[in-house]
Amino acid sequence: MAILEVQGLKKSFDHLEVLKGIDFSLEKGEVMSLIGVSGSGKTTLLRCLNFLERPTAGKIVVDGDVIFDADDPLTQKESEIRRKRLHFGMVFQSFNLFPQYTALGNVCLAKELLARENPEFKGHKKQMLDRIREEGVEILTSVGLQDKLDYYPHQLSGGQQQRVAIARALMLEPSILCFDEPTSALDPELTGEVLKVINALAQRDATMVIVTHEMKFAHEVSDKVLFMDQGVIVEQGTPQQVFEHPTQQRTKQFLERYNE
Ligand code: ADP
Ligand code: MG
Repeated sequence: MAILEVQGLKKSFDHLEVLKGIDFSLEKGEVMSLIGVSGSGKTTLLRCLNFLERPTAGKIVVDGDVIFDADDPLTQKESEIRRKRLHFGMVFQSFNLFPQYTALGNVCLAKELLARENPEFKGHKKQMLDRIREEGVEILTSVGLQDKLDYYPHQLSGGQQQRVAIARALMLEPSILCFDEPTSALDPELTGEVLKVINALAQRDATMVIVTHEMKFAHEVSDKVLFMDQGVIVEQGTPQQVFEHPTQQRTKQFLERYNE
Protein backbone atom coordinates (compact mmCIF):
# COMPACT_ATOMS: atom_id res chain seq x y z
CA MET A 1 0.00 0.00 0.00
CA ALA A 2 1.15 3.53 -0.73
CA ILE A 3 2.40 5.49 2.27
CA LEU A 4 1.13 8.72 0.67
CA GLU A 5 -1.70 9.29 -1.77
CA VAL A 6 -2.67 12.71 -2.99
CA GLN A 7 -5.93 12.85 -4.91
CA GLY A 8 -7.37 15.80 -6.84
CA LEU A 9 -5.63 18.33 -4.63
CA LYS A 10 -6.50 21.96 -5.39
CA LYS A 11 -5.54 25.19 -3.70
CA SER A 12 -6.68 28.72 -4.49
CA PHE A 13 -5.61 31.99 -2.95
CA ASP A 14 -8.57 34.33 -3.47
CA HIS A 15 -9.29 33.93 -7.18
CA LEU A 16 -5.89 32.54 -8.10
CA GLU A 17 -5.94 28.76 -8.52
CA VAL A 18 -2.39 27.69 -7.69
CA LEU A 19 -2.88 23.90 -7.57
CA LYS A 20 -5.31 22.65 -10.18
CA GLY A 21 -5.85 19.01 -9.26
CA ILE A 22 -2.70 17.17 -8.18
CA ASP A 23 -2.60 13.36 -8.12
CA PHE A 24 0.32 11.17 -7.17
CA SER A 25 1.25 8.39 -4.81
CA LEU A 26 4.42 7.42 -3.05
CA GLU A 27 5.50 4.03 -1.72
CA LYS A 28 7.32 3.61 1.59
CA GLY A 29 11.05 4.18 1.10
CA GLU A 30 10.62 6.03 -2.19
CA VAL A 31 12.22 9.36 -3.01
CA MET A 32 10.20 11.72 -5.16
CA SER A 33 11.62 14.88 -6.67
CA LEU A 34 9.36 17.71 -7.65
CA ILE A 35 10.76 20.03 -10.31
CA GLY A 36 9.35 23.04 -12.14
CA VAL A 37 9.79 26.76 -12.72
CA SER A 38 9.35 29.29 -9.96
CA GLY A 39 5.68 30.00 -9.29
CA SER A 40 4.42 26.63 -10.53
CA GLY A 41 3.03 25.68 -7.07
CA LYS A 42 5.72 23.39 -5.63
CA THR A 43 5.98 25.13 -2.25
CA THR A 44 2.19 25.37 -1.99
CA LEU A 45 1.92 21.62 -2.52
CA LEU A 46 4.45 20.89 0.26
CA ARG A 47 2.70 23.38 2.56
CA CYS A 48 -0.64 21.65 1.93
CA LEU A 49 0.90 18.29 2.87
CA ASN A 50 2.26 19.78 6.10
CA PHE A 51 -1.05 21.45 7.06
CA LEU A 52 0.52 24.88 6.67
CA GLU A 53 -2.14 25.59 4.02
CA ARG A 54 -5.63 24.20 3.78
CA PRO A 55 -6.39 22.73 0.33
CA THR A 56 -9.54 23.91 -1.46
CA ALA A 57 -10.34 20.45 -2.81
CA GLY A 58 -9.00 16.91 -2.73
CA LYS A 59 -7.75 14.27 -0.36
CA ILE A 60 -4.51 13.39 1.40
CA VAL A 61 -4.18 9.78 2.55
CA VAL A 62 -1.27 8.57 4.71
CA ASP A 63 -0.84 4.84 5.16
CA GLY A 64 -4.51 4.24 4.35
CA ASP A 65 -5.72 6.91 6.79
CA VAL A 66 -7.60 9.84 5.18
CA ILE A 67 -5.91 12.70 7.01
CA PHE A 68 -7.54 15.40 4.90
CA ASP A 69 -10.64 15.41 2.75
CA ALA A 70 -11.94 18.80 1.64
CA ASP A 71 -15.47 17.34 1.50
CA ASP A 72 -15.37 15.88 5.02
CA PRO A 73 -15.19 18.45 7.86
CA LEU A 74 -14.50 15.65 10.34
CA THR A 75 -11.03 15.28 8.81
CA GLN A 76 -10.33 18.97 9.36
CA LYS A 77 -10.69 19.27 13.14
CA GLU A 78 -8.17 21.74 14.51
CA SER A 79 -7.63 19.52 17.55
CA GLU A 80 -6.24 16.72 15.38
CA ILE A 81 -4.15 18.75 13.00
CA ARG A 82 -1.06 18.71 15.21
CA ARG A 83 -1.11 14.91 15.43
CA LYS A 84 -1.63 14.61 11.69
CA ARG A 85 1.13 17.08 10.94
CA LEU A 86 3.55 14.70 12.68
CA HIS A 87 3.28 12.36 9.69
CA PHE A 88 5.35 14.92 7.82
CA GLY A 89 8.69 16.54 8.46
CA MET A 90 9.58 19.77 6.69
CA VAL A 91 12.95 21.26 5.83
CA PHE A 92 12.71 24.81 4.49
CA GLN A 93 14.96 26.67 2.11
CA SER A 94 15.84 29.21 4.81
CA PHE A 95 16.57 26.72 7.67
CA ASN A 96 14.09 28.41 10.08
CA LEU A 97 16.08 27.56 13.21
CA PHE A 98 15.31 29.30 16.50
CA PRO A 99 18.22 31.73 17.05
CA GLN A 100 17.96 31.57 20.84
CA TYR A 101 18.50 27.79 20.99
CA THR A 102 21.65 25.78 20.37
CA ALA A 103 21.84 23.11 17.68
CA LEU A 104 20.87 20.48 20.26
CA GLY A 105 18.16 22.74 21.70
CA ASN A 106 16.62 23.22 18.26
CA VAL A 107 16.65 19.49 17.59
CA CYS A 108 15.13 18.54 20.97
CA LEU A 109 12.57 21.33 21.36
CA ALA A 110 9.50 19.81 19.72
CA LYS A 111 9.98 16.43 21.37
CA GLU A 112 10.43 18.09 24.76
CA LEU A 113 7.18 20.01 24.30
CA LEU A 114 5.38 16.78 23.41
CA ALA A 115 6.92 15.01 26.42
CA ARG A 116 5.67 17.75 28.76
CA GLU A 117 2.12 16.92 27.67
CA ASN A 118 2.62 13.28 28.55
CA PRO A 119 0.94 12.38 31.88
CA GLU A 120 4.09 10.45 32.85
CA PHE A 121 6.27 13.55 32.55
CA LYS A 122 5.81 14.72 36.12
CA GLY A 123 7.13 11.54 37.67
CA HIS A 124 9.89 10.87 35.11
CA LYS A 125 11.00 14.32 34.05
CA LYS A 126 14.76 13.79 34.25
CA GLN A 127 14.76 10.38 32.55
CA MET A 128 12.51 11.62 29.77
CA LEU A 129 14.52 14.78 29.09
CA ASP A 130 17.83 12.88 29.29
CA ARG A 131 16.54 10.31 26.80
CA ILE A 132 15.46 13.08 24.39
CA ARG A 133 18.89 14.73 24.62
CA GLU A 134 20.59 11.38 23.95
CA GLU A 135 18.44 10.95 20.85
CA GLY A 136 19.23 14.52 19.80
CA VAL A 137 22.97 13.90 20.16
CA GLU A 138 22.64 10.67 18.17
CA ILE A 139 20.78 12.37 15.32
CA LEU A 140 23.14 15.35 15.21
CA THR A 141 26.03 12.87 15.11
CA SER A 142 24.39 11.11 12.16
CA VAL A 143 24.50 14.39 10.19
CA GLY A 144 28.13 14.99 11.19
CA LEU A 145 27.51 17.71 13.79
CA GLN A 146 28.66 15.95 16.98
CA ASP A 147 31.16 18.80 17.54
CA LYS A 148 28.56 21.56 17.22
CA LEU A 149 25.90 20.51 19.73
CA ASP A 150 26.20 23.69 21.79
CA TYR A 151 26.63 26.11 18.91
CA TYR A 152 23.94 28.68 18.19
CA PRO A 153 22.65 29.12 14.62
CA HIS A 154 24.69 32.31 14.08
CA GLN A 155 27.86 30.35 14.91
CA LEU A 156 27.15 27.77 12.20
CA SER A 157 27.60 27.91 8.42
CA GLY A 158 24.52 27.71 6.20
CA GLY A 159 25.28 24.09 5.41
CA GLN A 160 25.60 23.25 9.09
CA GLN A 161 22.37 25.10 9.90
CA GLN A 162 20.55 23.15 7.23
CA ARG A 163 21.91 19.90 8.65
CA VAL A 164 20.55 20.94 12.07
CA ALA A 165 17.18 21.58 10.39
CA ILE A 166 17.27 18.10 8.86
CA ALA A 167 18.17 16.57 12.23
CA ARG A 168 15.29 18.49 13.81
CA ALA A 169 12.85 17.09 11.26
CA LEU A 170 14.19 13.54 11.75
CA MET A 171 13.80 13.77 15.53
CA LEU A 172 10.03 13.35 15.31
CA GLU A 173 10.38 10.31 13.06
CA PRO A 174 8.05 11.52 10.31
CA SER A 175 6.65 8.98 7.83
CA ILE A 176 7.44 11.40 5.01
CA LEU A 177 10.20 13.98 4.99
CA CYS A 178 9.65 17.03 2.75
CA PHE A 179 12.38 19.36 1.53
CA ASP A 180 11.67 22.70 -0.12
CA GLU A 181 14.75 23.65 -2.15
CA PRO A 182 17.04 22.69 0.73
CA THR A 183 20.19 24.00 -0.93
CA SER A 184 18.93 27.11 -2.71
CA ALA A 185 20.10 29.42 0.06
CA LEU A 186 23.58 27.88 0.19
CA ASP A 187 26.86 28.68 -1.53
CA PRO A 188 27.80 26.01 -4.07
CA GLU A 189 30.58 24.65 -1.84
CA LEU A 190 28.10 24.01 1.00
CA THR A 191 25.42 22.48 -1.22
CA GLY A 192 27.31 19.20 -1.47
CA GLU A 193 27.40 18.56 2.29
CA VAL A 194 23.61 18.89 2.54
CA LEU A 195 22.96 16.74 -0.54
CA LYS A 196 25.25 14.10 0.96
CA VAL A 197 23.07 13.96 4.10
CA ILE A 198 19.90 13.63 1.99
CA ASN A 199 21.58 10.92 -0.08
CA ALA A 200 22.49 9.00 3.09
CA LEU A 201 18.85 9.19 4.19
CA ALA A 202 17.78 7.79 0.82
CA GLN A 203 20.22 4.90 1.32
CA ARG A 204 18.52 4.22 4.65
CA ASP A 205 15.12 4.05 2.88
CA ALA A 206 13.66 7.30 4.19
CA THR A 207 10.51 8.32 2.32
CA MET A 208 11.07 11.79 0.93
CA VAL A 209 9.53 14.48 -1.25
CA ILE A 210 12.19 16.90 -2.46
CA VAL A 211 11.60 20.15 -4.32
CA THR A 212 14.89 20.92 -5.99
CA HIS A 213 16.64 22.65 -8.86
CA GLU A 214 19.63 20.30 -8.51
CA MET A 215 18.81 18.21 -11.57
CA LYS A 216 21.84 15.94 -11.40
CA PHE A 217 21.10 15.17 -7.76
CA ALA A 218 17.41 14.58 -8.50
CA HIS A 219 18.39 12.22 -11.31
CA GLU A 220 20.64 10.22 -9.00
CA VAL A 221 18.60 10.09 -5.81
CA SER A 222 14.98 9.82 -7.00
CA ASP A 223 12.77 6.84 -7.65
CA LYS A 224 10.18 9.12 -9.16
CA VAL A 225 10.24 12.61 -10.67
CA LEU A 226 7.27 14.96 -11.09
CA PHE A 227 7.44 17.95 -13.36
CA MET A 228 4.96 20.62 -12.39
CA ASP A 229 3.92 23.67 -14.40
CA GLN A 230 1.21 26.22 -13.57
CA GLY A 231 -0.33 24.07 -10.86
CA VAL A 232 -0.52 20.91 -12.94
CA ILE A 233 1.67 17.82 -13.00
CA VAL A 234 2.66 17.79 -16.63
CA GLU A 235 4.78 14.67 -16.53
CA GLN A 236 5.82 12.02 -14.03
CA GLY A 237 7.94 8.92 -14.20
CA THR A 238 11.33 7.48 -13.33
CA PRO A 239 14.30 9.87 -13.53
CA GLN A 240 15.31 8.15 -16.80
CA GLN A 241 11.87 8.74 -18.29
CA VAL A 242 11.51 12.37 -17.22
CA PHE A 243 15.12 13.57 -17.62
CA GLU A 244 16.25 11.51 -20.59
CA HIS A 245 13.05 10.85 -22.54
CA PRO A 246 10.52 13.54 -21.66
CA THR A 247 7.36 13.23 -23.73
CA GLN A 248 5.83 16.65 -23.09
CA GLN A 249 6.91 19.83 -24.85
CA ARG A 250 6.83 21.85 -21.62
CA THR A 251 9.12 19.36 -19.86
CA LYS A 252 11.56 19.43 -22.77
CA GLN A 253 11.69 23.24 -22.77
CA PHE A 254 12.20 23.35 -18.99
CA LEU A 255 15.05 20.84 -19.08
CA GLU A 256 16.70 22.49 -22.09
CA ARG A 257 16.86 25.73 -20.16
CA TYR A 258 18.62 23.90 -17.32
CA ASN A 259 21.10 22.21 -19.60
CA GLU A 260 22.16 25.39 -21.39
P1 ADP B 1 6.92 27.57 -6.38
O1 ADP B 1 7.29 27.01 -5.05
O2 ADP B 1 6.78 26.53 -7.45
O3 ADP B 1 7.84 28.68 -6.81
P2 ADP B 1 4.62 28.66 -4.99
O4 ADP B 1 3.84 27.52 -4.52
O5 ADP B 1 5.47 29.38 -4.02
O6 ADP B 1 5.47 28.22 -6.27
O7 ADP B 1 3.64 29.75 -5.62
C1 ADP B 1 2.70 29.44 -6.63
C2 ADP B 1 1.82 30.63 -6.85
O8 ADP B 1 1.00 30.85 -5.71
C3 ADP B 1 2.54 31.94 -7.11
O9 ADP B 1 1.86 32.64 -8.10
C4 ADP B 1 2.46 32.63 -5.78
O10 ADP B 1 2.50 34.01 -5.94
C5 ADP B 1 1.11 32.18 -5.26
N1 ADP B 1 1.03 32.16 -3.80
C6 ADP B 1 1.76 31.38 -2.97
N2 ADP B 1 1.44 31.59 -1.67
C7 ADP B 1 0.48 32.55 -1.68
C8 ADP B 1 -0.28 33.22 -0.67
N3 ADP B 1 -0.11 32.93 0.63
N4 ADP B 1 -1.18 34.14 -1.07
C9 ADP B 1 -1.37 34.42 -2.37
N5 ADP B 1 -0.70 33.83 -3.37
C10 ADP B 1 0.22 32.91 -3.05
MG1 MG C 1 8.94 27.43 -3.86
